[in-house]
Amino acid sequence: MTVGPRTSPGPKVVVVGSGFAGFFAARKLARADVELTVLSATDGMLYQPLLPDVAVGTVDPRSVVVPLASTLPGATLVRGHASGVDFDARVVHYTGADGVTGVVAYDRLLLAPGSVTRLLDIPGLAEHAIGLKTVTEALYLRDHVLRRLETANDLTDPAARRAALTFVVVGAGYAGVELTAQMARLTRNLLPLHPAIAVQDVRWLLVDVAKAVMPELGASLGDTALQLLKKRGVDVRLEVSVTAVTDSEVTFTDGTTLDCSTLIWCAGITANPLIDTLNLPMTKGRLNVDASLRLPGHPDVYAIGDAGAIPDLTKPADEHGTRPVCPPTAQHAMRQATAAARNILADLGHGTARRYRHHDLGLVVDLGGPDATATPLGLHLRGRLAKLITRGYHLYALPTGKRRIRVALDWALAGNHPDDVALGLPTGQAALITHAENANG
Ligand SMILES: Cc1cc2nc3c(=O)[nH]c(=O)nc-3n(C[C@H](O)[C@H](O)[C@H](O)COP(=O)(O)OP(=O)(O)OC[C@H]3O[C@@H](n4cnc5c(N)ncnc54)[C@H](O)[C@@H]3O)c2cc1C
Repeated sequence: MTVGPRTSPGPKVVVVGSGFAGFFAARKLARADVELTVLSATDGMLYQPLLPDVAVGTVDPRSVVVPLASTLPGATLVRGHASGVDFDARVVHYTGADGVTGVVAYDRLLLAPGSVTRLLDIPGLAEHAIGLKTVTEALYLRDHVLRRLETANDLTDPAARRAALTFVVVGAGYAGVELTAQMARLTRNLLPLHPAIAVQDVRWLLVDVAKAVMPELGASLGDTALQLLKKRGVDVRLEVSVTAVTDSEVTFTDGTTLDCSTLIWCAGITANPLIDTLNLPMTKGRLNVDASLRLPGHPDVYAIGDAGAIPDLTKPADEHGTRPVCPPTAQHAMRQATAAARNILADLGHGTARRYRHHDLGLVVDLGGPDATATPLGLHLRGRLAKLITRGYHLYALPTGKRRIRVALDWALAGNHPDDVALGLPTGQAALITHAENANG
């Protein structure tokens, strides 16, 4: 199938991906006089920073997925996986949801396919690890933890019960920290429903090779997060990683092993498979891009978000004139989207192009209940004020008023006690990182 011109003969702009980067760029491009096609593996924009809330059940999954059809009127939406780009013929090859292959022609191309979870070559990891990058994984995780509580409540052997209730999270970045803090709180709150389980039966471990929890928060707030995790009973092991995983045991780099059947992998991201097919220069698995967000040597192609290694103009260059690249965050992806759309339109004769430059506004980290840490505009906040800012930021950043209202209502209805109903999702294969991210559900 070839997706070609529609009725109006405007220049063809193709956006690959509909996450933070692709969606916000498409929203701006959809209002311009161009023929816009959005080629994405999903039919919605997933607000990933609220996946920990979906996993603990304080936010409904549909509240964090913004439908493309109603928010990008006028754009041609093609659902499929881009599999390669022919830069000479100016077409993107893709495989549709039904397995049918096709091409989309472009005059300007914006690559925003994001990243995938970085799976290391650790025996058993691909077969047993659960990730947290898709709604499928978040929902599965929630069901899995609730089922473990139910199963353990019926077990009479104390060792088996403890093993069923041991949960290992690898990666103490924002995803791992938020998930562990919120999950540890959830399991603690649900214990009255499972009278055979004692507090000390439930173990949450958070491990990371780094020396500190979320070093990007700074020593003081990183320490706040660490203290809160410990207060929630989390066993935080730093400068430690995993060497092997089976369905009943996890082995760590310090030589210790634990009886455990739950390993949650939040240890970083790597190149989207599409990016690897392009054979272009990369930095840490991201496409090298100049400050105008274009691929050097391909002036009609742009790359942003987790897929683009964009020089951070707010940071000084080293002795070779090289600057660090912008971190792979939603905050940067959203702003790069607006900048890329503006530069593409300028290239097509509307407006002026500018180099991408954005001062980091800080981080917000929701630790569950009344707890959060945040660094808005360089301030170091914790507790209720940080919580207010964290939630306020998410409501501001979520696209569409409808999603904002839904998320605010979800939070209000969940209160301090999200319900404990498992949805009965199928277990196993479908939720493994290797499957869930391919399906991109
Ligand atoms: C659990 C979690 C919590 C996070 N918390 C924060 C936070 O608090 N603050 C923050 O700033 N950042 C946070 N992030 C990071 C942030 O979500 C990412 O940096 C951001 O989503 C990157 O945007 P993107 O558009 O580049 O990629 P994504 O948002 O991942 O979007 C990629 C899009 O491309 C599509 N796609 C993938 N492959 C293809 C293909 N081959 N063809 C077509 N389409 C394809 C996908 O379906 C998706 O629509 C978090 C991430 C996670 C997973």
